[in-house]
Amino acid sequence: MMEKSLSDQELESRFGDLEENLKVIRSRIEEAALESGRKPEDITLLAATKTVPVPVINRAIELGVTHIGENRVQELCDKLPLLSPCDRQFIGHLQSNKVKFLVGQVSLIQSVDSEKLAKEISRLSVQRDVITQVLIEVNIGEEENKSGVSPESLEDLLGIISTMPGVSVRGLMTIPPVCDNPEKTVSYFSKMRQYYVDIQSKRLDNVSMDYLSMGMSSDYAQAIRCGANMVRVGSALFGQRQYGILH
Ligand SMILES: *Cc1c(COP(=O)(O)O)cnc(C)c1O
Repeated sequence: MMEKSLSDQELESRFGDLEENLKVIRSRIEEAALESGRKPEDITLLAATKTVPVPVINRAIELGVTHIGENRVQELCDKLPLLSPCDRQFIGHLQSNKVKFLVGQVSLIQSVDSEKLAKEISRLSVQRDVITQVLIEVNIGEEENKSGVSPESLEDLLGIISTMPGVSVRGLMTIPPVCDNPEKTVSYFSKMRQYYVDIQSKRLDNVSMDYLSMGMSSDYAQAIRCGANMVRVGSALFGQRQYGILH
């Protein structure tokens, strides 16, 4: 999986595209932030780096990208020792038996959606003397076979996780259903924002609502207008994903 490398020429071309893409994304983030009454610097751009070769990620970091998120535990672990300094997060579906590879290695796990998973994160965090910061992933479209806790179970789950000593909840994350109707997407984002604000106002112990992580390449500006303060952007930044090249 790791043997293929990009040629110098391919790398140069990807670096050029990346620089252009980043400019566009930054200006759209700025515009959406200002439109929704916030400062551009209040919005965190997290680069979603699955399938992106390490030299390209490191170039993004050189260009000022501060946060990266990986989806697969194995890919993250392969890349970690090669990455330039940056804030490293996990954003993909996580199985309890893989938690051991992440605790102490990432600043935030964005995809906690069950008691079982949170319990394992807490257990290993206590064992390793760290507190792991997490977001709760919400299945806002209530889609079958999709990760995330259902909206009606969100509060119960928060109540349970808030008692776990090794875990600190910092906010919410979602991937809304794919739909061609932008208004529908807005309604999912707005619902998320409402949960975020409601939970914030309850001031639960050990639960803070600092991050509302929603919006990807096709809809990050819209997500910001609806209240997101973290967007996870992959293909709009790095181009179409190519599988099998990591160096
Ligand atoms: C891949 C991925 C993204 C980025 O997707 P793009 O559409 O390429 O921007 C964001 N969030 C998660 C959880 C992802 O897996």
